[in-house]
Amino acid sequence: MADFLPFTRPTIDEDMISAVGDVLRSGWITTGPQVAALEAELAAYIGGSRQVRVVTSATGALEIALKVLGVGPGDEVLVPAMTFVATANVVTRLGASVRFVDVGLRSRNATAAAFEAAIGPRTKALMPVHFAGLPVEMDAVNALAARHGLRVVEDAAHAIGSRLGGRQVGSFGDIACFSFHPNKNMTTVEGGALVYGDPALSGPIEAERWHGGIKDPDGQVDVISAGGKYNLTDVAAALGRAQLKRLDGFNARRRELIGRYFERLEPRLPSDWLPDRGDDGHSWHIFAPLLPFADLGYSRVEFIRRMKERGLGVGIHYQAVPALSLYRQLGHDPGRYPNAARIGAETVTLPLYPAMTIADVDRVCAAVLELTGR
Ligand SMILES: *Cc1c(COP(=O)(O)O)cnc(C)c1O
Repeated sequence: MADFLPFTRPTIDEDMISAVGDVLRSGWITTGPQVAALEAELAAYIGGSRQVRVVTSATGALEIALKVLGVGPGDEVLVPAMTFVATANVVTRLGASVRFVDVGLRSRNATAAAFEAAIGPRTKALMPVHFAGLPVEMDAVNALAARHGLRVVEDAAHAIGSRLGGRQVGSFGDIACFSFHPNKNMTTVEGGALVYGDPALSGPIEAERWHGGIKDPDGQVDVISAGGKYNLTDVAAALGRAQLKRLDGFNARRRELIGRYFERLEPRLPSDWLPDRGDDGHSWHIFAPLLPFADLGYSRVEFIRRMKERGLGVGIHYQAVPALSLYRQLGHDPGRYPNAARIGAETVTLPLYPAMTIADVDRVCAAVLELTGR
């Protein structure tokens, strides 16, 4: 049988391995010059004169972002019903409440209109998620937030390298948070970044990132808050710098592979099974069509098993967040978000990563068409 194709796999080349080795041999392995260089390189990559602070995960970045924007108990934050659970959990951890917003069936993104319809008297912030790397209509979302005096924290975990009208995601708006988890389009093993415009946020973000500490000009440290511990290591940052150099190439390769997926599947599958194609600004973190298991006569678990039998990995991104036990217990009704509910029940993430070949895509498509009788 042909090699097993996982649904994702990071690309780690010899330059990356040697960059990590150099740091390990250097005598300084935690936060230091590599972190500072990665932050500067990310700021240059994203453009728009942004501040960048890297941390140990996007989850940590999102929590810090909401916290420094003043979200806390009594506040409500608008979160798409279809996202990774971290987007909602950070709100819950801060003692604020989540109000879910349904997403577009094919875009998986919440629109400005959907956010607007959910605004209530306690709404403090909104969290657009650029799902799969397809940018949310941020001009409309930011204008809406400005009209209502709300803050915007973008969950850009899927969207490093995504562009909206020629601008990088993260280059405008309050705060965007990126993930460098190994499944994401670039990796530091684990890691994330806050990208923001207002330099006055740097002090509070740095304090949250490292024990509430601030340094005076002489290098003396004082502590201003009970901050956390989210600093990235130089080992991780060295990997991130080498990944960032190849990011545009990785994303271009993802788009080529997606081109082949659409060429093979679009003529054969109903249009609502396929996600929005977007334009060249789409960074294609995942390729996740919907399959109507209720009509196919077998379950998603069985589909995953049959794909595995054919040497093909399948992921699930994601269950609808209001359907998870925690959010049901908090009183949310998953039935109120029909698109998220359908995506949650039908989504399958098919193999997509830069090292795949066109022949690999053909193999996946042949299996999907066979198993769906198309
Ligand atoms: C991966 C992911 C996160 C969390 O990223 P980590 O770096 O693993 O904390 C948050 N939101 C979304 C939408 C994600 O996909």
